[in-house]
Amino acid sequence: MWKASEYAGWGRVHKAQGELARPERARALSALAAEGPALGKRRSYGDACLVDGGKAVDMGRLDRYLDFDAEQGLLTVEAGCALGQIARDFAPRGWLPAVMPGTGFATVGGGIAMNVHGKNHHGAGAFSDHIIEFELETPKGRKTVRPGDPLFLATVGGLGQTGIITQATLKLTACKGDLMMVTERRVPDLETFCDLLDESEATYTVGWIDATARGEGLGRGILEEGETGSGLVPAAKRGKKIPMDAPGWALSAPVVKTFNAAYYRRVPLKGRTVVKPIDDFFFPLDKIHDWNRLYGKNGFHQFQCVLPVEQRPVLREMMAKISKAGLASPLAVLKRMGPGSAGHLSFPMEGYTLAVDFPNRKGAASLVHELNAMTLDAGGRIYLAKDSVATAAQVKAMYPDWQTWAKACDAVDPEKALVTDLVKRLELRTTT
Ligand SMILES: Cc1cc2nc3c(=O)[nH]c(=O)nc-3n(C[C@H](O)[C@H](O)[C@H](O)COP(=O)(O)OP(=O)(O)OC[C@H]3O[C@@H](n4cnc5c(N)ncnc54)[C@H](O)[C@@H]3O)c2cc1C
Repeated sequence: MWKASEYAGWGRVHKAQGELARPERARALSALAAEGPALGKRRSYGDACLVDGGKAVDMGRLDRYLDFDAEQGLLTVEAGCALGQIARDFAPRGWLPAVMPGTGFATVGGGIAMNVHGKNHHGAGAFSDHIIEFELETPKGRKTVRPGDPLFLATVGGLGQTGIITQATLKLTACKGDLMMVTERRVPDLETFCDLLDESEATYTVGWIDATARGEGLGRGILEEGETGSGLVPAAKRGKKIPMDAPGWALSAPVVKTFNAAYYRRVPLKGRTVVKPIDDFFFPLDKIHDWNRLYGKNGFHQFQCVLPVEQRPVLREMMAKISKAGLASPLAVLKRMGPGSAGHLSFPMEGYTLAVDFPNRKGAASLVHELNAMTLDAGGRIYLAKDSVATAAQVKAMYPDWQTWAKACDAVDPEKALVTDLVKRLELRTTT
């Protein structure tokens, strides 16, 4: 059952050597729940999905659909099922997962444990807002968990520390079909970007931001606003694979600056509306398998924060710091979040969320440290699905409910069998 394995977080900065079990049947999970935490597809960037020197349960084979109510859009599914798979299978029937992160590889279990958000957080909330119930196999036995239960608050965004989510019943959202109508327009600067995100009435919005731009163009980028549609799906482009780790210069400052300038001009001045398959809009990077290898063998860091709406000046300071450092990759995203909801350690809260990738070069980790400190001072938080460098003190200050959460975890996992490398690094289950 257990197999010695070497694996990494998506950013490939943190790695683990440990034992993984890959059960094929859900009934095996009750015996495994006291052995180690569940892992999804390891699309978390840092060490949230790692147990170095220990055991963990890879949920990849537990991906079956168990029940579907086509009248109400209620889907019961095993927790290892990828959200992109659900989208591909159900969009032609008029239903989509109500919340989808930027990769379709994230599983239902990973979606719950990080309480993921999508391009519609401003209107639809987080993953936890669309859960009817889930089954949780804890070291202390099996439980059915529903919104309102104390264990719900500890499990959504709860980093897998309350047990193995074996299956969930999700309320899907109605869609017109498996196409997206996407309006793209250039945005000249950060202030305009924030205004447009605040005013947008589109169901789905996302901003690509040129993290190399300075001066008047600081924070310029492209705003995408999307609605589902139906019709003839444009032929999907074949997936590409990155065959090896890219050399160090591939994402050097001049290369990124030139790429970003061209990418910005790709959208005509007057804007345009394009039709895309849903995957292309929701999961634009999934077509390039192993794109994380573009960052070379040292991997990369992603910084993601959410700042309260009144902290636009801090967002501006952050963008200035990032562009001055010259370390950013082309992957930088700005989104607007609506009010936060359930989950003691849930990331989403009302404000602007900025996500930027930095190749793991000299200065990158300390830049992320500085950005983390600015986030804390501004009353914001960082996203633990992305973190690989924060300190325990910073994260505890950003998530003041952490002790309530830790006690709830200890009640179902008194031996602390489910601790991951991130939870250890941030001392999150060490209460006084
Ligand atoms: C390209 C890309 C874009 C992304 N965009 C977004 C985005 O827009 N919004 C967003 O919110 N996130 C985003 N993410 C982050 C990603 O959605 C989360 O990290 C998600 O948790 C990954 O799911 P996973 O199945 O790979 O889980 P893993 O990364 O393997 O695990 C994440 C956590 O979930 C726990 N877990 C996994 N399965 C279970 C289970 N069955 N029971 C209990 N605990 C479990 C693990 O213990 C771990 O703590 C993105 C990631 C990538 C690579």
